[in-house]
Amino acid sequence: MVTESADLECRDLVRRFGDAAAVDHISLNIPAGQFFSILGPSGCGKTTLLRMLAGFEKPDSGDIHIRGERMNDVPPNRRPVNMVFQHLALFPTMTVGENIAYGLQRQRVPPAERRSRINSVLEQVGLPGLADRNPQQLSGGQRQRVALARCLVLKPTLLLLDEPLGALDLKLREHMKVELKHLQKSFGTTFVYITHDQSEALVMSDQVAVMRQGRFDQVASPEELYHSPATPFVASFVGDNNRLPGRVTGLTDGIAEVTLEDGQKVRGRAVGPGISAGTSVDLFVRPESMVIDLQSDQDNGRQMSRLTARVTTTLFDGANSRLETSAGNQTLYIRMPQDGRLAAHTTGVSLDVCWDPERAPVFARTAP
Ligand code: ATP
Repeated sequence: MVTESADLECRDLVRRFGDAAAVDHISLNIPAGQFFSILGPSGCGKTTLLRMLAGFEKPDSGDIHIRGERMNDVPPNRRPVNMVFQHLALFPTMTVGENIAYGLQRQRVPPAERRSRINSVLEQVGLPGLADRNPQQLSGGQRQRVALARCLVLKPTLLLLDEPLGALDLKLREHMKVELKHLQKSFGTTFVYITHDQSEALVMSDQVAVMRQGRFDQVASPEELYHSPATPFVASFVGDNNRLPGRVTGLTDGIAEVTLEDGQKVRGRAVGPGISAGTSVDLFVRPESMVIDLQSDQDNGRQMSRLTARVTTTLFDGANSRLETSAGNQTLYIRMPQDGRLAAHTTGVSLDVCWDPERAPVFARTAP
């Protein structure tokens, strides 16, 4: 059964190159109007998956449905899909208006309607009146918006975006992240966005699929991915995290007591099956989840986990200032609140570091 309200539904998609599966049994379901990101490291199969959605690559098995219609045998130019690439490929000898008109001409849209759609889409992307400019006369961010306008004017069901911010400098990328999110909401078009940048995925998306070695580890909202990672890979790939290896020495109500290599005992929430006394595990705790020098083991009614660590470096980075500490062989980064206390923690000083075990997932160690 194909889900009626889904703009895109993929079932059990596989694409192999030789013996290796670039896309390995992927299923997904994207409701209309969603900003959906596929996040993963280089080589995990993102582009291959996107190219199959666009029709440039054929699946070895599995199905692709767009608004309920099977697309496997539909050629790229007949799919209700457009794609924005990292290198925008605007036609340099055409004006902005001509660039946007190109797809409309191919669809044989009459000239009067073309003009009105071009003006209206330029208005929507915040570039009114720039139809007669050449792409070279625009800033990087403006060119980005023209590339989007050129696709959105065709009213695709899906807009596929292949790392479109990758070629921009850092400051513009930060700005365009927010712009893209606003534009997607204002057009209401379903976006499928691939990136290896977790911050882009977190800021812009309604849902994120974290991809690794051709498969999805987790599909969830940015908040859920960040706070409740389903796998150790998601815990370390999404946001900053500290990883503390150890062995389980107790388990009560889903909270594991973990004895670290230096003998200290800490606690965290056991995630997934296979965790019992004696299991080798990794406990993850985020830099901002730790509180230092807490007087009591209780905080906001929660029994905290406590660890002694020694300051090795203070790292001033404005709002992201951190302490680098060590506990045994382990390095632990602690985010400092902006209350001027960073300077008080000098190298060599010992600290008690506490966290709520519910915010520290524990995973059974798997072979690397
Ligand atoms: P990046 O972020 O670096 O673009 P990606 O996640 O998009 O990476 P893909 O380009 O989909 O990854 O590649 C997935 C795997 O498939 C890689 O191991 C890649 O080498 C392989 N691959 C991709 N295209 C081909 C091809 N045409 N022939 C052989 N192998 C390929």
